Amino acid sequence: MITPNMHYAELKDSYLFYNIAQKTGAYLKAHPGVHLYRMGIGDVSLPLCGAVIKALHEAVDDQADKARFHGYMPECGAPFLRGTIAEHYRRRGIKLADDEVFVSSGASDELGDILDLFDRSCSALVIEPAYPAYVDANVMAGRRIIHLPSGEDDGFLPEPDEKSKADILYICSPNNPTGAVFSREKLGRWVDFANENGSVILFDAAYEAFIEDEALPRSIFEIPGAETCAIEICSLSKTAGFTGTRLGYTVIPRALERNGMRFNDMWVRNRTTKTNGVSYIIQKGGAAVFSEEGQRQIKENIRVYKANADLLMRTLDRLGIPYWGGTNAPYIWMKCPDGMGSWEFFDLLLNEIQVVGTPGEGFGACGEGYFRFSTFGDPDDTKEASRRLFTLLSK
Ligand code: PLP
Repeated sequence: MITPNMHYAELKDSYLFYNIAQKTGAYLKAHPGVHLYRMGIGDVSLPLCGAVIKALHEAVDDQADKARFHGYMPECGAPFLRGTIAEHYRRRGIKLADDEVFVSSGASDELGDILDLFDRSCSALVIEPAYPAYVDANVMAGRRIIHLPSGEDDGFLPEPDEKSKADILYICSPNNPTGAVFSREKLGRWVDFANENGSVILFDAAYEAFIEDEALPRSIFEIPGAETCAIEICSLSKTAGFTGTRLGYTVIPRALERNGMRFNDMWVRNRTTKTNGVSYIIQKGGAAVFSEEGQRQIKENIRVYKANADLLMRTLDRLGIPYWGGTNAPYIWMKCPDGMGSWEFFDLLLNEIQVVGTPGEGFGACGEGYFRFSTFGDPDDTKEASRRLFTLLSK
């Protein structure tokens, strides 16, 4: 009789989106034909931009031609895409060699797989409220998890201290779900802390494209010293609408070493063992995101989501309800009115105005009493949802 990985028995049921689906399903069954204003999930609503679609079509045609056909791709990414992404960083003043960039199938896959580089005895610090995968991926591996709650006092951007000492430090900025973004100074304190303690920061930059304020760092490698303590995990999902197309990238500087082991070399060894690379067609589509035309077009899409965010923020301002995020992030994290619990507020919005959001409690205990709105929805739906929200809460 084999012994399965018994750590799976320690996982809490992933009830957040399941519960939301159950509740909305029951509501629709009782009210057939009613339209729901879905502001809960973090999926995008706009299609891929023209430059990407053109590149995808061309790449499909390449695969039909013997002279241009591509078989297996290099495991760490096609040189054309690694070079394009590294150049994208270099244009912003971040020194990076092409082989410090790895192409992935998305941040989710990578956030799980990258843990192969760490011993099971390593502890992991998770700043909460947090994207639930950080905790679950470490529970599966049997690692000790340190939960660091954040809150209104620190603007959901806590400072490191004795209690936050851990081997792996998760930092997500702009944050899902709070929308909070670390300043250079604050992120710098985490970089110094990691270097002093020999920790490694896993920096989740899935939402970096939403940062408009030039003073805020879009990459941890804008911070001096990050090259010796950080791995950056990025995604084209929200930047360019690749949620269903799947493409991301990870930066592992060659200067990142612990105990005589170089993480960049380890990841090359890992990828060449465990993957056969990302599809040629998708990588061609991804490269188009970084072209001049691609950058212009993805910014147009991001502007649509930002207009959604502006509308919701103005509504909350008029209602006098405190919130975080929205400006440099696609999420708005609001305080539930009148001390309501986050599921109680969820039920109120669903039943009274047919608006669906995400209860904060699903992102960690300190998220209770807060509520997340995604701004990736349809603009007309966002408009009507904002109108309904104002009417309900101004009564
Ligand atoms: N990291 C964060 C913080 C996210 O919110 C998400 C998706 O919602 C991901 C990573 C995963 O992104 P991908 O679609 O690239 O797997």
